[in-house]
Amino acid sequence: MSKKPSGRAGGSKPVALITGGGTGLGRAIGTLLAEDGYDLVIASRSVDHLREGGRALRAKGARVTELPVDVRDPDQVDRLLEAVRGSYGRLDVLVNNAAGNFAQPAEKLSPNGWRAVVGIVLDGTFFCSRAAFPLLRRAPAPSIVNIVASYAWMAGPGTAHSAAAKAGVLALTRTLAVEWARFGIRVNAVSPGPVHTDATDRQLWVSDEIVRAITDDVPLGRFGTPEEIAQAVRFLVSSKASYITGQVLAVDGGQWLGKGALHLLPPSGPEGKGRDRPASGSAGSGNGG
Ligand code: NAP
Repeated sequence: MSKKPSGRAGGSKPVALITGGGTGLGRAIGTLLAEDGYDLVIASRSVDHLREGGRALRAKGARVTELPVDVRDPDQVDRLLEAVRGSYGRLDVLVNNAAGNFAQPAEKLSPNGWRAVVGIVLDGTFFCSRAAFPLLRRAPAPSIVNIVASYAWMAGPGTAHSAAAKAGVLALTRTLAVEWARFGIRVNAVSPGPVHTDATDRQLWVSDEIVRAITDDVPLGRFGTPEEIAQAVRFLVSSKASYITGQVLAVDGGQWLGKGALHLLPPSGPEGKGRDRPASGSAGSGNGG
């Protein structure tokens, strides 16, 4: 169902900028925001990703502008936001979704590998937020959503670079939420659980064994879908979330909470053989004895 964003200035449509919006979760987020009435700007490095993403989004009825950028470079990011200002004159939503990741034990992680991931995720999120600020502050109901991961506050064994960067993004989310509240800019984060995308299938979920182990770890017992993640972003940028800022919404089937050992116990059933009813003959069994 469409939830039109409020405050159309001069009849123009609100604009959402999604970094990494040509692929994976970014493209799914774009699909739902377009349904909600946003014009989209998708920005990343690869012209192929942008072209393909733009084509897929347009096929669903979105109006899309594709702009190449490397979010690690503050000058390129400034030029990106200058282009948004020139084309649309407004920006209502920024989704900091661009990321890079690869699995590597920390002791084998090269300084370049570290810098690449921290540069995209942490520097990129700050550079984009900072450059978007002058446009966002003039929007009627502006908002930023940063895409993080639960290792922002837990441990990320095998992905120390990404975990450290996402932790920084979470701290930035909370800090900007407070600093920019006086400008009416809400800043929140979404933390996806495991989702199949081309990138994660290539870099992280690389064997059936890994997929099985991860699935086993999720209380809801499955991977999420790109649309399930996008729904959370759609909510957080909407007027329904107008009093929510500085929060992180985990959309992960309960994964970060951990499963404990309850599932190893025998199942409970209506016959009273399970653990959730007192054993026969015990106090409170209600057998009239
Ligand atoms: P993805 O398709 O690889 O998305 C990452 C996007 O970032 C790509 O479109 C990529 O486009 C862009 N990007 C990479 N480096 C960039 C740079 N230097 N400058 C600008 N753009 C750059 O992967 P995804 O799975 O959809 O991930 C999307 C977000 O969800 C990420 O923040 C990720 O950490 C988070 N996440 C995903 C999962 C999951 O299971 N899928 C779980 C937790 C969190 P170019 O190559 O064209 O630059």
